[in-house]
Amino acid sequence: MEKVYNDNKSRYIIAIDGPAASGKSTTARLIASELQYVYIDTGAMYRACGLRSKQLGISLDNVPKIGEMLDEIKIEIVFHEAGNRFLLNGSDVSEMIREKDISRLASDISQIGIVRERMVDLQRDLGKGGGVVMDGRDIGTVVFPHADCKFFMIADVDTRAQRRVIELKAKGIEADFEEVRKDLIWRDNNDSTRKLAPLRKAEDAIEIDTTGLTIDEQVAEIVINIKNKMYA
Ligand code: C5P
Repeated sequence: MEKVYNDNKSRYIIAIDGPAASGKSTTARLIASELQYVYIDTGAMYRACGLRSKQLGISLDNVPKIGEMLDEIKIEIVFHEAGNRFLLNGSDVSEMIREKDISRLASDISQIGIVRERMVDLQRDLGKGGGVVMDGRDIGTVVFPHADCKFFMIADVDTRAQRRVIELKAKGIEADFEEVRKDLIWRDNNDSTRKLAPLRKAEDAIEIDTTGLTIDEQVAEIVINIKNKMYA
């Protein structure tokens, strides 16, 4: 597939939303590489907030303290095609933010209005020039409701849990299928039932069920959709 788009539509904003472990991040990263765009993982930002609250021992009920934390927090992304690195106040936390307790903390802290406001501002700023593939839960509904292309990735929960177990094992982390499965169900429920920016498919998003698809097939399906729009 050719790699460079030289027409005036080459600065699209591509939004990819969906539940936990639906294949968003791997797919989004590969699509960004294919289009020579940057990939922005918005979940990592909420994870960084969760990690910071843990480091500072702040209870999530203490909204004023969370506000102070947001004033001192600095999230930086170092872009790499092979995988971005995340810096939290100057320290590389790319691995630490993937830990299990941080997944839950991220899901809980992302329910707080001031946290979402701050992260959405940052996401809009990073994406405003286009040429981005951004994944999350509310990109097509809230962050960029006018994104050029929107996708909503789903997969059945057993497939998602199985993929997550393989991913963790590849990193040398032991993982129990049932536990991972329960955790995904808890997080999806927490994310889709919250008041602010709940996980949901934007009306104009294309739903991609990745249950029976390989990563290459997921990427190909999305890239075809983007190209069809670019060259329509
Ligand atoms: O995508 P990831 O699983 O890393 O996201 C961690 C958590 O961050 C999610 O469970 C969700 O609660 C929150 N999140 C969000 N909005 C986004 C991205 C992630 O609320 N755009």
